[in-house]
Amino acid sequence: MPGFELFGELERQEVNDVLDNGVLMRYGFDGMRNGHWKAKALEAELQNTLQSKYVQLVSSGTAAVSVALASAGVGAGDEVIMPTFTFVASFEAIMLLGAIPVLVDIDDTLGLDPKAVEEAITPKTKAVMVVQMCGSMANMSALQDICHTHNLLLVEDACQAIGGTYQGKPLGSIGDLGCFSFDFVKTITSGEGGAVVTNNKSYYLNADHYSDHGHDHVGNDRGAESHPFLGYNFRISELHAAVGLAQIKRLPEFINIQKRHYTILREALSVIPEVTFRTVPQGGEESYAFLNFFLPNLEIATKVSERFKANGVDGCFHYYNNNWHYIRKWEHLKDLKSLFPISTEVKEGLKYLADKAFNKSDYYIARNISCLIKLSWSEDEVKARAKKMVETIKSCL
Ligand SMILES: *Cc1c(COP(=O)(O)O)cnc(C)c1O
Repeated sequence: MPGFELFGELERQEVNDVLDNGVLMRYGFDGMRNGHWKAKALEAELQNTLQSKYVQLVSSGTAAVSVALASAGVGAGDEVIMPTFTFVASFEAIMLLGAIPVLVDIDDTLGLDPKAVEEAITPKTKAVMVVQMCGSMANMSALQDICHTHNLLLVEDACQAIGGTYQGKPLGSIGDLGCFSFDFVKTITSGEGGAVVTNNKSYYLNADHYSDHGHDHVGNDRGAESHPFLGYNFRISELHAAVGLAQIKRLPEFINIQKRHYTILREALSVIPEVTFRTVPQGGEESYAFLNFFLPNLEIATKVSERFKANGVDGCFHYYNNNWHYIRKWEHLKDLKSLFPISTEVKEGLKYLADKAFNKSDYYIARNISCLIKLSWSEDEVKARAKKMVETIKSCL
């Protein structure tokens, strides 16, 4: 997945444009820029790549999720349904707004289980946030139907899924709002950065203003702009956007490499009857950022994960034992450790976390191994890796 593996001259050229004119800020300073607007140019590239009318760059993927929700009016006391398997950022971004994350089970797609979503809806539910983990997707048409029926926002965290599609549409462009991250380990990196994408003009304008102190960006004199509402600073810098601009142009090349490497590994593992693969919903095409597979039980998955490490098969995760991506080990969040007081409403709203069982999520995550697909491998390296993976798995059965 990481775009940083293939980093070079293109990125350097774009950054040099910014250094040569000295304007590191994405807004204003028109006279000094010599025509260089890297953030604007990256937004235009992303509109095209993501087939979406509007794109607002922000400072991170976490910021993108907060800005997306805020732009659609999600705030204090609202409930946002999200999956148990994600990155802690999903939880953090909801909490930042004083809203309440309502975690529900995943299914064999490793994304939100539509049935669990439906069961979790209350009068306080404002949005469903689907997380397209590890380059693939949840059952989007079922989730769209639910959101439509209950008049809920559908927000897509597609931070790990740029380049994947569902029924011909780019992941991240299907919900009311989509969120992307360009942090250092994502498929496309700008160092740090993120994007909110939408086809809704008012959400977009809200995101544009909210992520820059409420500036309305009308006219070119920042001092004279008006401020329709409260905002914060979630801006991306021109330096970061310049790196992203070079990287986004290489997305098709990155996806092709990922697909080639993924296919070699998957075909090799397919000969083992005990290995099964994550379900990709009909009409879905992964970004091939990860290969996800299931083993018969927790014991075998634990053994495979340990032996992979011992045998030098790096970049494979057993998320059951990981404290970043799965609810089981989020002790600091279950215990609500916060530097500052949290509202009584949010505390009450999160009480369920202390003892709610997520049996269905456990069933999938306990048996799942998720292997990062690297861009920098040679074909021989992938083949050698495939052989080693098959031998290791067989030795654990
Ligand atoms: C990386 C990631 C984020 C957060 O992105 P940052 O740019 O690191 O803040 C959010 N959600 C998911 C699923 C991610 O993988």
